[in-house]
Amino acid sequence: MSNPSILILPGDGIGPEVMDQVTRVIDWYGAKRDLAFDVSTDLVGGAAYDAHGVPLHDDTMAKAQEVDAVLLGAVGGPKYDDLDFSVKPERGLLRLRKEMDLFSNLRPAQCFDALADFSSLKKDIVAGLDIMIVRELTSGVYFGEPRGIFEEGNERVGINTQRYTESEIERAARSAFELAMRRNKKVCSMEKANVMESGILWREVVTRVGADYPEVELSHMYADNGAMQLVRAPKQFDVIVTDNLFGDILSDCAAMLTGSLGMLPSASLGAPMANGRPKAMYEPVHGSAPDIAGQGKANPIACMLSFAMALRYSFDQGDEAARLENAIEKVLADGARTADLMGPEGGTPLSTAQMGDAILAALDASL
Ligand code: NAD
Repeated sequence: MSNPSILILPGDGIGPEVMDQVTRVIDWYGAKRDLAFDVSTDLVGGAAYDAHGVPLHDDTMAKAQEVDAVLLGAVGGPKYDDLDFSVKPERGLLRLRKEMDLFSNLRPAQCFDALADFSSLKKDIVAGLDIMIVRELTSGVYFGEPRGIFEEGNERVGINTQRYTESEIERAARSAFELAMRRNKKVCSMEKANVMESGILWREVVTRVGADYPEVELSHMYADNGAMQLVRAPKQFDVIVTDNLFGDILSDCAAMLTGSLGMLPSASLGAPMANGRPKAMYEPVHGSAPDIAGQGKANPIACMLSFAMALRYSFDQGDEAARLENAIEKVLADGARTADLMGPEGGTPLSTAQMGDAILAALDASL
């Protein structure tokens, strides 16, 4: 049987720097765990624009459709800010999500004990936190029509449309319930059914899907209250399922509970392929961080944790995913810190590659 395949799209800014460290980890699994992957690499975002005049070449799109998993670094940067909207780096990312039909975006917010002091919240509120936000990713107000800026009388009007079909809600809900079954069996659905018809439909459909999962405790919350609860008592949640717009905001809010953007992975999953694996793309939550790009300062952990999610959700290697997560937890507990994780007490931060060295050493020690 051939090895599982991965397409690496490092992208722009710190994307290639953090992805270099992930490549070392992928190689480690091939060498030390007999878990080899067929890895290919290609361009996305500004890097693809520079080479091809588009943020994602059709050939790259075709490759992404064929592989078992895509690993993406980050896209964007000031150099591309003035490009036409249609060729901005982010359009490459949106095209991947849309054409692979990655409708379910998983964003864990997990607080490593060693970093609990880092959160803007009190330590006892976040210590041991482990929640998962499932954000619907391919529909809603970011895609709905009509959209645009139109003339109306003697002024302009900006229009975006929140639109959800029942089937779009159903598949996002189902992925949340499936996840909850593997976790603590609680789903909280968030919308604004008090003021939005799409929210009323969202609540109805999630409730209907929930009937198929009698073991899972389902609750509903207005998204604005959800935002408050996330910073008041985040540990009340297990899995949160919500739409594209609210999910964008709520997952960033949950992200800050854990301290640093440099620690946050994500997975975007679609329907199962012929081999049973879901279409999947894994990427850190952070962007291309132009302020530190090229300086060896970036924290590679978010990207490594994204690969751990790939091991778990694409390759059914939950134990190996845990091995990598435990190695990361260990180096943090031992005091390894990149610059973004430095507390007021100071110290000498590790470079991106030095953090990679420490994690590889911890992986070796796990054998
Ligand atoms: P950003 O996430 O790139 O950076 C925000 C801050 O966090 C910066 O100070 C940065 O130095 C820091 N940071 C982020 N990741 C880090 C890491 N791994 N290690 C250490 N520090 C890290 O967000 P931004 O500054 O708003 O956006 C910069 C560019 O990235 C823009 O062009 C934006 O469009 C793009 N962007 C891309 C994605 C993506 O590719 N998924 C997501 C968000 C933003």
